[in-house]
Amino acid sequence: MLDERLIRGLHIDAADLADSGFAAGVHEVFQASTVAALVAGAFDGDLSFAELGRHGDLGLGTLNGLDGEMVAVDGRFLRADVDGRISEIAPTALTPFAVVTRFAPTVTFDLEGPLDHHELVRELNRHAPPGSPSCAIRADGDFELVEARSVPRQQPPYGTLAEAAAQQHRFDFHEVSGTVVGFRFPDYAEGIELPGFHLHFVDAARERGGHVLSCRPRRLHVQIDHASRLHMELPPGVELPDPAAVVGSSTGRAELRGIEGGE
Ligand SMILES: [Zn+2]
Repeated sequence: MLDERLIRGLHIDAADLADSGFAAGVHEVFQASTVAALVAGAFDGDLSFAELGRHGDLGLGTLNGLDGEMVAVDGRFLRADVDGRISEIAPTALTPFAVVTRFAPTVTFDLEGPLDHHELVRELNRHAPPGSPSCAIRADGDFELVEARSVPRQQPPYGTLAEAAAQQHRFDFHEVSGTVVGFRFPDYAEGIELPGFHLHFVDAARERGGHVLSCRPRRLHVQIDHASRLHMELPPGVELPDPAAVVGSSTGRAELRGIEGGE
């Protein structure tokens, strides 16, 4: 079944793509499930990392049971455990939520800091390709500080994302080199995506990382890839929410911001 919607230039389609031979193309984003489903506690998905890897080499997400934070970079799928320790994810592992793209940057620039997180966000917004509200981002460089978090594996029956996030571990990486990867999505993708910036970090040695709460870069090489199309693989029981209906639902947004941070 294919559900297709065009929302202000972002073409969204949701379908059961597993085993269909489909692979997302350049400047397209592929996603497993929705933020709304994750918020509600749908922590087990049916999509393997082997399948995810057919659609992209850069991105972020989590693992079944909300077992840590996932960061994908250079085609490697890495898991940051509850204390930020990185390990390689087995191709057979499953994800309840992930967003990836075959990274093909169209904008590249260098930033000299130090910058605080607000200034970084402003620079990313300033350089993002015009008319491309949805973007993938990769930024490599040195950071004075990265404030990150990860979450412990949950046991069924699952609670909500807010309940799981209450058990998160926060950790600071000081004077660290590494890579931030993530996405910017517009407010009208709320429910499907985390609106605004969603960024994950992994250090240069690929040993430590997590979900970025805020960071202070010293110098960065930034690459941005625009996305005009979003393909979604929805697990059984998860439906495509109508983003138009949730825009303006500031309670939902405030709750998500409380859980995920960012701006
Ligand atoms: Zn995250």
